[in-house]
Amino acid sequence: MEKLMNYVDGVYCPPINEQYFDNINPATGEVYCLIPDSDDNDLALAVTAAEKAFPIWSNMPAEERSKILVRFSEGIEKRMEQFVAAESKDNGKPITLARHVDIPRAVSNFHFFASAIIHFSSESHYMEGVGINYTTRKPIGIVACISPWNLPLYLFSWKIAPALAAGNCVIAKPSEITPYTATMLGEIATEAGLPPGVLNILNGTGAKIGDAMVRHPKISAISFTGGTATGEHIARTAAPMFKKLSLELGGKNPTIIFDDCDFDDALKTTIRSSFANQGQICLCGSRIFVQKGIYEKFKEAFVAKVSSSKVSFPEDPKANLGAIVSESHLTKILTYIDLAKKEGGKVLTGGNRVFLPAPHDKGFYLEPTIFESLPYDCKTNQEEIFGPVVTIMPFETEEEVLMMANSTKYGLASSVWTTNVKKAHRMADQLNMGIVWVNAWLIRDLRTPFGGMKASGVGREGGLEALRFFTEPKNIFIKVD
Ligand code: NDP
Repeated sequence: MEKLMNYVDGVYCPPINEQYFDNINPATGEVYCLIPDSDDNDLALAVTAAEKAFPIWSNMPAEERSKILVRFSEGIEKRMEQFVAAESKDNGKPITLARHVDIPRAVSNFHFFASAIIHFSSESHYMEGVGINYTTRKPIGIVACISPWNLPLYLFSWKIAPALAAGNCVIAKPSEITPYTATMLGEIATEAGLPPGVLNILNGTGAKIGDAMVRHPKISAISFTGGTATGEHIARTAAPMFKKLSLELGGKNPTIIFDDCDFDDALKTTIRSSFANQGQICLCGSRIFVQKGIYEKFKEAFVAKVSSSKVSFPEDPKANLGAIVSESHLTKILTYIDLAKKEGGKVLTGGNRVFLPAPHDKGFYLEPTIFESLPYDCKTNQEEIFGPVVTIMPFETEEEVLMMANSTKYGLASSVWTTNVKKAHRMADQLNMGIVWVNAWLIRDLRTPFGGMKASGVGREGGLEALRFFTEPKNIFIKVD
């Protein structure tokens, strides 16, 4: 059976303790490779390598770092189909999604930050007759990047690309559930000419190697994407050590559809925003509010389309939904489906596990599920499920829908559907979320600030925000006379 390795100091290596655990293919339920169960000793090697590499990498001109990151992006692009197949197998997502979204986005992440770093500038503030301030922004040192399983390489590269571009040395940990494509990056790094020790990839569990990274005194900043409970734990651990933290956490995003929307566009996009990647995207809209005038018409059309979606194995080019990432996550989603029923929810479609024929009969498949008749403030409508489960609710006025949309502890993203531009501005202004799409969903410009409010996170990534996070500013004042 294939054993994945860590990538430390420019070479692949097994974990020092020689312990591994299973990696399960969600499409079949079978173990298909083994993952290093890394610990403090592997981290110590990575920190030593990163410390040694830091002066080389941080002093390299930005243009040179940029060229290396361009080669990263080209290296992934050259192996596109290998990465696509590996991502789809590891995560259970339809291969078409990995081909059109995940891996192209990883390519763009490296390409974008390779370019951004050569356009990055710092500020100068002139005080007339008094003096001049100028601000330098230097790399922090050794930083940790910890990413989740839902968009594995997409989010892993979203963190390590700006961290590297800014001149830091990185110790990165992919999710233990989807480590495969991150591990493949080691080969790309070597080929791209990245000096050994600049990027170190450690596999293992969050509780062991993830926690060790958060606690390590020589790791000065942590960029984390994952669940809110994990983010809270990391913040509590890192705060007394005054580490710089960027936390991209959970969401419970509203989709708000007004009577005056472009109906067909709203319908088509809401199907995607509800069920893309089996609903396992932090930006998916899981609470759908539809204005009364079109509620019945929208509901009927939505249920008809969703109930004819194809749940299938990831390699099926016709699959609309693939497998749920793991058995434990499937169980969690099914528990929420039971809860929604207990709370009085009416299943309009779905609600059941799907069993495909062999060899996928032990895979983790679930019907896309729509609930109606649930109050906005019940648990189903307040807690993140992170699966193919949505609720649909009618509303009458802007005030009412704003109150309901803003009622959760989260504040990540929202999608508003209206052809009235003034209403769109009013809504966008009052939604307490880091991202508002109007007549759209998941259109991403990598220059924009990305992140959430409230329990959806702390700080922003993307564009210059990411480069600012991964650098330490210093202001210098010089008196003029
Ligand atoms: P988790 O919080 O369980 O895990 C995220 C990462 O943190 C994994 O690599 C995990 O390792 C690691 N980890 C777990 N415990 C610790 C710890 N104590 N110290 C350090 N690292 C730790 O999230 P999921 O992987 O389940 O991802 C789903 C969540 O991510 C959802 O809540 C979703 O909303 C959120 N998310 C947010 C996004 C955003 O941009 N706001 C984008 C995408 C997802 P391991 O897997 O080995 O346990």
